[in-house]
Amino acid sequence: MRVSLLKEVLKGIFSKPVTIEYPKVRTQVEVDARGRHYADLNKCIGCSLCAIECPANAIVMEKIPEGYEVPKTNARRIYPVVDYFKCVYCYRCVTVCPTKAYITTSEYRLATSAKAESRVLSLNTIAKAEVKPVG
Ligand code: SF4
Ligand code: SF4
Repeated sequence: MRVSLLKEVLKGIFSKPVTIEYPKVRTQVEVDARGRHYADLNKCIGCSLCAIECPANAIVMEKIPEGYEVPKTNARRIYPVVDYFKCVYCYRCVTVCPTKAYITTSEYRLATSAKAESRVLSLNTIAKAEVKPVG
């Protein structure tokens, strides 16, 4: 009994660790893992369906700020902002979207001291409007 226990201890000491030293070593995930997602505002029509259907209440519809070229199909100039801290990554929003506007990624490293939201990622999908010179 004691000999077998000693064997186990020695095996444990000299074998490689089975755990990954995260975050020093990045954990591998499947390419289709549900990670950070955000709306492509070239496709979004501002219908709010994703926000209505979100079970975690993680999506807020916001006005697209002035200075962006918004497609005519989004007459109300609104878009969804995802709060990644509230999100449970069910991808309900992705599947209900009638225009397939969501860009999906397998990015899971979202911890930050600031608020983690999709606002900037979505706004970066559309061009800034040209500023016309006055006069
Ligand atoms: S993945 Fe699920 S929880 Fe996250 S924003 Fe979409 S619907 Fe809401
Ligand atoms: S469901 Fe799709 S089109 Fe509708 S607001 Fe959400 S992202 Fe935009």
